[in-house]
Amino acid sequence: MADTKLKRKPAPGHVLQLVLYSDLVTQIQDLAPEYAHVVLGNRERFSFRLAEYAAYARGARERLEKFVIDPPTTRPIPCSTCDLCRWREHCSGIWREEDSLFEVAGITKVQVAKLEAEGISTLQALSEFGGPVRHMATETLGKLNAQSRLQQDRKSGSPSYELRTRQPGKGFDLLPRPIAVICFMTLRETHTTKRMGPMAWNTCTGSGTERNSLHFGPMIGWRKDRR
Ligand code: SF4
Repeated sequence: MADTKLKRKPAPGHVLQLVLYSDLVTQIQDLAPEYAHVVLGNRERFSFRLAEYAAYARGARERLEKFVIDPPTTRPIPCSTCDLCRWREHCSGIWREEDSLFEVAGITKVQVAKLEAEGISTLQALSEFGGPVRHMATETLGKLNAQSRLQQDRKSGSPSYELRTRQPGKGFDLLPRPIAVICFMTLRETHTTKRMGPMAWNTCTGSGTERNSLHFGPMIGWRKDRR
């Protein structure tokens, strides 16, 4: 049994699909195929022994059937395929409506789970939370807390900003020494890229001896005005 795919590498889903096909063919011809083949977009052939994958594939299929017959309560959790998913608008709407922690730019699933275990389940709650959180580094919590504060402020007004403590060897410290006629500027999003949220601009100007002089205000809101 062979199936053609445009992909150049075999994927787990291909194997699951071919195990299903083999079960259906077995019902018709009363004889189970021994091997299946995925013919890839580059014409290479990936062959595998169906018996090595059948138990797992059938188990996964049973779990899916049980889920469809008696669906439990579910919630959308962002993953790497959200951008390709036809439900993405629907799920984004839920996250927005719930003021979900998943709305915090840069947050991970694991971090959301740790925060929820502490009873923090919304962006607003995180923005007001002082900590600590079990199994989360103080620095990580500080970053998430600051990010959620900026986004929370943005909901009710113009973008706000917070000055970050200077860290030797990081951030602006990596820039060449500024001179009077040069303006260094970094662009930092305060929301997820795909939703194109507000931007915060950080600028650093000054002469060599004024390296720590940071001026943020004038650029805030620039992007908003350009829309
Ligand atoms: S967009 Fe699709 S993949 Fe992402 S959480 Fe929703 S249903 Fe799951």
